[in-house]
Amino acid sequence: MSTKFGELNLKGKVGVITGGGGVICSTMAKAMAEQGIKTAILDLNEEAAKVVADEIEKTYNVTSIGLAANVLSRESLEEAKKIINEKLGKVDFLVNGAGGNAATATTKVEQMKPADLNTPDDTFFGLQLEGFDKVFDLNFKGTLLPSMVFAKDMVARQTGGIVNISSMNSYRPLTRIPAYSAAKAAINNFTQWLAVHFAKTGVRVNSIAPGFLLTNQNRFLLIDEKTGEATPRGQKIINGTPMERYGTPDELTGTLLYLLSDWSKFIIGIVVPVDGGFSAYSGV
Ligand code: NAD
Repeated sequence: MSTKFGELNLKGKVGVITGGGGVICSTMAKAMAEQGIKTAILDLNEEAAKVVADEIEKTYNVTSIGLAANVLSRESLEEAKKIINEKLGKVDFLVNGAGGNAATATTKVEQMKPADLNTPDDTFFGLQLEGFDKVFDLNFKGTLLPSMVFAKDMVARQTGGIVNISSMNSYRPLTRIPAYSAAKAAINNFTQWLAVHFAKTGVRVNSIAPGFLLTNQNRFLLIDEKTGEATPRGQKIINGTPMERYGTPDELTGTLLYLLSDWSKFIIGIVVPVDGGFSAYSGV
């Protein structure tokens, strides 16, 4: 084994991070840059991508570019790839981070009672197919398509790695969010499929399933603004997490770097829970 423990040997590699303007993936991009990886931050939100890339260049003194790209458009991804190949070189790593849920694919009630038939819109019966399309497209096809576009460089050079971003709800669905849960389950399944498909190419495919993180987007759902105490949903999450706290984006980066580096050389097709024990705990 060429890798000595203590070194990840990632310096000079080229990494593409989709959704890199967001909370989790901007942190992942920074961790990659800290190891000397040249990063391409792809996001629908060009401004957010550029802010992250600028910050990376200033902090880590390693090349980073922020590009507008839509993970659902092959044309947009091919366009980004051209620029990345010109400015950074051939792609070694892809982190498929763009993802999210939609309100139209979310029920208002957690569990239905017969009387709820009077207000069907709050239940399973009020879910909209358009919401399912959106969530399945963004999470699943938004992982599939960038893999098709960027893995070509990796297969051609018989080296590289893809890390998909799954979720706790991929193992057992969370209440209220059937589309997001099913789409993330599809990502786990696809991770195994592509890992097997690429097994003889030198390209490794794995996933990370983050546990519950407290971010600006969900803070209002999990913490009562007035009292600063946990909301009922927030309390349920803490009760279901044996470590009794939320995770932070920083706590995902060790697993990411491990999966990208030769330290995990013989590992393909796994989904690593980084969750403070949520997925291991039955609640009893
Ligand atoms: P975020 O909303 O901060 O980041 C997502 C980014 O994706 C945004 O910057 C957004 O502009 C971008 N994006 C959306 N649609 C896009 C498209 N079509 N093309 C390109 N970019 C697009 O979200 P986050 O919390 O950082 O989540 C990142 C990933 O982690 C997602 O896949 C999410 O499902 C997953 N995840 C998040 C949590 C959590 O607690 N926040 C937990 C588990 C998994």
